[in-house]
Amino acid sequence: MSRKKIVAGNWKMNNDFNESEQLLNNLISQSKLNDVKIMIAPSFVNLKYSIDRLKLSTIEVISQDVHQSKNGAYTGEVSASMLKSIGVNTTIIGHSERREYFNETHDLLKLKVDNALSNSMNIIFCFGEELVDRKNNNHFNIISKQISESLFHLDNKYWKSVILAYEPVWAIGTGETASSDQVQEMHSFIREFICKKYDQQLSNNLSILYGGSVKPTNAKEIFSMNDVDGGLIGGASLNAVDFFKIINSF
Ligand code: PEP
Repeated sequence: MSRKKIVAGNWKMNNDFNESEQLLNNLISQSKLNDVKIMIAPSFVNLKYSIDRLKLSTIEVISQDVHQSKNGAYTGEVSASMLKSIGVNTTIIGHSERREYFNETHDLLKLKVDNALSNSMNIIFCFGEELVDRKNNNHFNIISKQISESLFHLDNKYWKSVILAYEPVWAIGTGETASSDQVQEMHSFIREFICKKYDQQLSNNLSILYGGSVKPTNAKEIFSMNDVDGGLIGGASLNAVDFFKIINSF
């Protein structure tokens, strides 16, 4: 995948079937005014319906997570091949809520990354520092570790299937957004960090999204930054009008 403008909506554990149907109808009625690639991540139970409903749309339906094993006795879990079999080709991995509430470690995320990539899925790999890390000026170290521990074992060829999402934990669902300068500083650090490990071409081709209370009111400024290629949107993706205002801010 070459560098693209992407806006992805993470519905998290919101929207029952009827609410999902309603939101999908509302999304279909909106118009995109640019070349941004749009993705939405409904819950597992609503994936297949969403794919069918969006058959004539360019919106890609993606999953919020994937299990690290191929298949087997893992009650309640969903495998990459199950997702692929219904037409899901991209998954989010490493969201801070999974890291925090489900104890997902660097090592576990590495396994999830490998399993998704070996099933020919694309991944949106999320990472971000907590407030205490930023206050202690430790945010660059934390981000370096999150990226290197779960992704730096990958051969160059796999990076075409990787999208990164920088999501400072203190800005997720809090209404507090990182300033556009803070976002640009981190995104350019990430690109440089990856360039040092791999090469310039690979890092220039990477799409790096920002996530953390992106809203119609702040999207334009954040998206105008050089190293920001789009957004991963939580709360505001639950409203089709707001979501499209964000998309059309590019
Ligand atoms: C997210 O959970 O990925 C996110 C960015 O959420 P919000 O937009 O609600 O802060």
